[in-house]
Amino acid sequence: VAKILEMEFGKPGEEPLKLVEALAPEKRKQVWKKIGIMPRAIDREITEIMHRTHMGVDADPLSLIAQGLRCALADGWSGSMMATLLSDIMFGTPKPLKAVANLGVLKEKAVNILVHGHNPVLSMKIVEAAEDPELVELAKKLGAEEGINVVGMCCTGNEVLMRLGVPIAGNMLQQELAIITGALEAVVVDYQCIMPAIVDVASCYHTKVITTEPKAHIPGALHIEFEPAHADEIAKKIVRIAVENFPNRIKEKVQIPEEKMELMAGFSVEAILEALGGTLDPLANALKEGKIKGIAGVVGCVNPKVRHDNSHVTLTKELIKNDILVVGTGCWAIAMSKHGLLKPEAAELAGPGLKEVCKALGIPPCLHMGSCVDCSRMLLVLGALADHLGVDIPDLPVAGSAPEWMSEKAVSIGAYFVASGILVHLGTIPPVLGSKTVVEILTSKAEELVGGKFYVEPDPVKAAQAMIEHIKEKRKKLGWPE
Ligand code: SF4
Repeated sequence: VAKILEMEFGKPGEEPLKLVEALAPEKRKQVWKKIGIMPRAIDREITEIMHRTHMGVDADPLSLIAQGLRCALADGWSGSMMATLLSDIMFGTPKPLKAVANLGVLKEKAVNILVHGHNPVLSMKIVEAAEDPELVELAKKLGAEEGINVVGMCCTGNEVLMRLGVPIAGNMLQQELAIITGALEAVVVDYQCIMPAIVDVASCYHTKVITTEPKAHIPGALHIEFEPAHADEIAKKIVRIAVENFPNRIKEKVQIPEEKMELMAGFSVEAILEALGGTLDPLANALKEGKIKGIAGVVGCVNPKVRHDNSHVTLTKELIKNDILVVGTGCWAIAMSKHGLLKPEAAELAGPGLKEVCKALGIPPCLHMGSCVDCSRMLLVLGALADHLGVDIPDLPVAGSAPEWMSEKAVSIGAYFVASGILVHLGTIPPVLGSKTVVEILTSKAEELVGGKFYVEPDPVKAAQAMIEHIKEKRKKLGWPE
């Protein structure tokens, strides 16, 4: 399977991507074929948009944006999709589990190791190595009475949280804060969302920053290349370095915040189906009856340009209050967990219909579906729901939002949701205001072409209201009660 999927990155010819053909709803594929944005090979679509944006190539905004959407579809329905599917095959499909979040998960009497980045292969192996009896014994011998404590951050944190219940210390903007607790023996990183300045911050403490990827070096960090063929050996070497660093901890500098919060995570598509009794009928019926008015996918980053977590939390609370089930990934999920919105008890904050459904199923009103890569899980739910109801995705009472987005990956995620037929709210303004034509295409014309469009609104309450109105309109068109 891996060999076949690997070929999808660079295969020649016009044949569409295999996972797109296999997993996208028929009605969507017809739309993409009609306007010529059915993705072929993943790397080819990236190379092509890079060429088109070179000086003197594609000067037509519509043609450029269409290729951008094609490239994003190659990501969402194939590149990210296969990362999720293969991770599930290797490490197991997530199931609902309980865990704890926020900086209070660090332990004063243990060797603390923070895994940060996006690659589950490395983080899963570090967690495994930290259970090695010899290393645990060594940690205790060196004074760490409670052994070794691995905690996560960002999306690699989400990966080990979703599958193993490993505590999560925080989202992207908390990486420096974790170091200044003075209680971190090592920060082990792979790639994406790692601030280069953490090496400078760590130099004020005893913390070692360990980079592991050939494509992601940081000056001043200790580099130990992670080779999957020698995964166990390398993971143990990294954990040993952290353990041996424990005696260097400066006790006077240790200040671990008390804050931590319980959460429920692990809502893969399979887990959601299981909670519903193996079929989409209960969800479809709850939507038709109006107990659940709609579904919102809230995703993406935290952004230093806006108050940390505020837009995520405000927008989500507003949505659940209005009986909209919220599913999401990435740093949104970590923001929710810190604010108690991933606990089943958060159903009390939901409107009466959603509250009733959550209480009956014992689930929170906000479902943690995984890392940013796992936005592909949401595409599968949307496709399955549309097929189940006999409609196309743009007909569903659903909306998306990235209230505090900042990374290039979020641009791709937003674009593949738009191309899949969803209204996508952005809380921070993308750098497109230089062209009225581009703004017009992204926020209006795109809807005529693919059924979805972008909507930009920095105020999270106003944004939630617009999403609610959009969902109401879709319900009306389906003939469902308001
Ligand atoms: S959600 Fe954004 S900031 Fe957070 S880990 Fe993913 S890409 Fe990075």
